[in-house]
Amino acid sequence: MGEHVVVTEVGPRDGLQIAKAIMPTPIKARWIAAIAAAGVTEIEVGSFVPPRLIPQMADTPEIVRGAVHLPSVTVLALAPNLRGAQDAYANGAHRVVVPVSVSAGHSQSNLNRTPAEQVGEVARIVAWLRQQPRPVGIEAACSTAFGCSIDGVVPPSAVLAVASGLAAAGVDSLSLADTVGYAHPAQIRTLVRAVRAEVGGKLQRLHLHDTMGLGLANALAGIEEGVRQFDAALAGLGGCPFAPGASGNIVTEDLVFMLESMGFATGIELDKLIAARSILAEGLPGETLRGGLGRAGIPRTFRAAA
Ligand code: ZN
Repeated sequence: MGEHVVVTEVGPRDGLQIAKAIMPTPIKARWIAAIAAAGVTEIEVGSFVPPRLIPQMADTPEIVRGAVHLPSVTVLALAPNLRGAQDAYANGAHRVVVPVSVSAGHSQSNLNRTPAEQVGEVARIVAWLRQQPRPVGIEAACSTAFGCSIDGVVPPSAVLAVASGLAAAGVDSLSLADTVGYAHPAQIRTLVRAVRAEVGGKLQRLHLHDTMGLGLANALAGIEEGVRQFDAALAGLGGCPFAPGASGNIVTEDLVFMLESMGFATGIELDKLIAARSILAEGLPGETLRGGLGRAGIPRTFRAAA
């Protein structure tokens, strides 16, 4: 039996936040349900941010309340601060993802705080959520861990400082995010090793963008380093409104194709996943859909992992 890899769909959050149009809520709900029906077990469905900042996320409360009824799906919601985490909890999210920019410039433009201040906010979120009757997972995403379009090089020492601060704050897990897509495979290896040496098994996930076309190469480097959880977006949607030049996430369909072909079981059915692209196109008619599988179809040579 193949080893299992968790592919977390972040299209409804990361993918939509820089879309030119706003996806109508009923179509978004149908799209999320189609992704779940394809076997995706973790979906980041939205972000609890003020609608005036990211209007595409204004329906997040409603979307979360609907998504928690999908069978076998862990519903993730992004929350940049305690207020957002409280809203995520109130609406029933299963896991809260808190972004913490490692680079000062991105942290300021995205969160209006220094990285150290945001680590402090994470500690407040952990303290509050742990007091609530319903258990909620808490994940911190180390944004711009591999480079920043504002500050340029992000020193590994800065990533380690943020990661150890977040581990001390008591999060359940950490991810390393290549927010602007500047990483290369050797860098993935080095940083995963260094962060793991600092925080051990708390480092669980990679969040990769395909700006330079290295997204899947970077995912493979992560696989070879033992990472077994990846974020990805259907049709490679995505970007960051506060990171100029960022392009889409790695394409979920193509990542699943690579993993399954290599013998890593994802539990995801490619044909159903590809079918979910048409709902995305219906909801965002002007948006470019990317990805090899969507363009070429499933190769006749393809065999899913056992
Ligand atoms: Zn992203």
